[in-house]
Amino acid sequence: MSKYIFVTGGVTSSLGKGIIAASLAKLLQARGLKVTIQKFDPYINVDPGTLNPYEHGECYVTEDGAETDLDLGHYERFLNIYTSQANNVTTGRIYQTVINKERAGDFLGKTVQVVPHITDEIKRRMKLLGEDGKYDIILTEIGGTVGDIESLPFIEAVRQLQWELPDEDVMVVHLTLIPYLRAAKELKTKPTQHSVKMLSETGVHPDIIVCRTEEPLSNEIKRKIALFCNVKQEAVIEAMDASTIYEVPLLMLREKLDLICLKKLNINQYSDPNLDKWKGFLDKLKYPKSRVTVGLIGKYIELQDAYKSILESFVHAGAMNEVKVEVVNVHSEYITQDNVAEKLQGLDGLLVAPGFGHRGIEGKIIAVQYAREKGLPFFGICLGMQMAVIEFARNVLGLKDAHSTEMNTDTNHAVINMMEEQKKIKMMGGTMRLGAYPCEIKEGSLAHRIYGELQISERHRHRYEFNNDYFDQFESNGMLASGRNPETGLVEIMELPNHPFFIGVQYHPELKSTVEKPAPLFVSFIAAAKKYNEQRMQQKARAEQ
Ligand code: GLN
Repeated sequence: MSKYIFVTGGVTSSLGKGIIAASLAKLLQARGLKVTIQKFDPYINVDPGTLNPYEHGECYVTEDGAETDLDLGHYERFLNIYTSQANNVTTGRIYQTVINKERAGDFLGKTVQVVPHITDEIKRRMKLLGEDGKYDIILTEIGGTVGDIESLPFIEAVRQLQWELPDEDVMVVHLTLIPYLRAAKELKTKPTQHSVKMLSETGVHPDIIVCRTEEPLSNEIKRKIALFCNVKQEAVIEAMDASTIYEVPLLMLREKLDLICLKKLNINQYSDPNLDKWKGFLDKLKYPKSRVTVGLIGKYIELQDAYKSILESFVHAGAMNEVKVEVVNVHSEYITQDNVAEKLQGLDGLLVAPGFGHRGIEGKIIAVQYAREKGLPFFGICLGMQMAVIEFARNVLGLKDAHSTEMNTDTNHAVINMMEEQKKIKMMGGTMRLGAYPCEIKEGSLAHRIYGELQISERHRHRYEFNNDYFDQFESNGMLASGRNPETGLVEIMELPNHPFFIGVQYHPELKSTVEKPAPLFVSFIAAAKKYNEQRMQQKARAEQ
C-alpha cells in the first residue's frame, strides 16, 4: 500500500511549493524509499499545452508526450525519475472525464455534482499511481493557494481521503510565508495563522507547517506558530531563502522534515540519507573554477520561467564543467545586421531557444549567421535548429527566400515545413509531435562524440520539421544531418563539421537533464564555451601586452 503526502500552499503563490515538495521527495528517496510526485492544478485548461509561456511559464513534456506544468521538470531533475501524464492533473481534465462519463450515460440518471462526482474523480486520480504498489510514498502538490475558490474541490478530496484511509497513511504539509517587517524588525505569524485556519475550516488540518522566511525563526516564533496553528513545535519547519534551489533538500534535511513525515506515516524502515552525488554536485555548483557567458536568444526572455528547463540544464552542465554559467538574455526582436556584433559581444556561446510564431525570427537568423561565421559555439533547440537551417539555406545555399511555412506559407523554399500527419489536424491541444522518439546518430559526427552512442531517445514538441527534399543540397554544402529518426527519416540533428561547435536539434534535450544525469548536449556546449572563453581571454591578454 502506498502512503500519501499532500503539499498545500497558503498566504501567497510563488512560495516554491514545487521545490519544497521535490526536496522532501528527494530526501525520502535518498533514504531508500520508492517515491513519486504529482501535481494537481486547479485551472480549467485540460493541460498547459495551449497556454502562452507568459501565462504559465514553460510547458514541460514527459516521455509519454504529456504537456505538463513546469514543476514536473523540478520533480524529474531532483528525483532522476520519469513522470507521465498521470503525474499532472488539472480541473479541466477532471471535468472532461466526468462530463464524458455523463454523456456516456454512466451516472444512470443521477444529477452530476461537484460532490461527490468531481471529488470522486479527483480522489481516483490522486490514488492512481498508488494502485500497483510500485511506490511507498506518493507526494501530491496541490496547485494554487488555500482559500482560492477553484482549489476547494481538491482540498475536499484530501479531506475525504484523510477520512477514508488509516491515519498513518495520509498527511498534509502546508507551506506558508512568514513575512519580515523591516520597519518593525519583526517576523509576522498572523498570515500563517489565517491560512491554517482557512485550511482547517475546510476540514483539513496540516501535520507540518513549512515556513518560508528571510530571517531565522526563533524558538519563540516557532512555539507561537505551533500553539496557534495546533501542530507540534517540531513540526514547524524553517525554510530560509537559499542561494540555489538545489540547496533546499539539505536545508530540509537539517530541519528533519523527512523524519517528521516518516514518523507520522509510521514508516520505520529507512536508511541514512544517501546524498553523496547530490552533495558532490552542489559543491561543484557553489565553487566554480571559472565562468562562461552564454547568450540565450528567445522572445520570452523577460520571463525566466519560460525557459526553466534550459536554465536548469545550464546549471547542471556548468557544475559538470566546474564553471559558472552566466546566462545573458538577448531579445531577438532587437537584433539587426548592424548591431549583431555589439549585441553578442562578450559571449562564449549562443543558444537559440525553442518557440512559436514569427515574432523575433529575423533577429534569430542574423544571430545564427554571426555564430556560424565567427566560430562562436552555437546550440539550437527546436525552433533554434530550424533557424540554423533557414540561415544556412539563405546565406550558404543562396536560397534567398528560404523559410519555414510556419512563418511564410508562400516561400519558394520551404526548408522547414509542416509534418504530413500534422496537416490534417484541426484541434490545437495535445496534437503536436510530442514525447520521446528514437534517433539514430551518424558515426564519427559531433553528435556521436557528444552522446557517446549511436541510438538515443529524446523528447519532442513541434509541428514543423526539416524538409528532406533539401537533404542532399545541405549535406553536399557542409551541413550534416547527423541524427535521424530510424523509422521516418525525420531529421533530428543538424551540425556543421567545419565549425568548432555548431549543432541544432529538433528535440528538447533540456527536458531530460537532471542533477545526476546532465544532458550531454548541454555539457558539451558549455565545454565548447569554456574553450572559446579561454581563447578569448588569451587573445585579450596578448592584445594588452
Ligand atoms: N514552432 C516550431 C514547430 O512547431 C518549433 C517548436 C519548438 O521550438 N518547440 O515546429
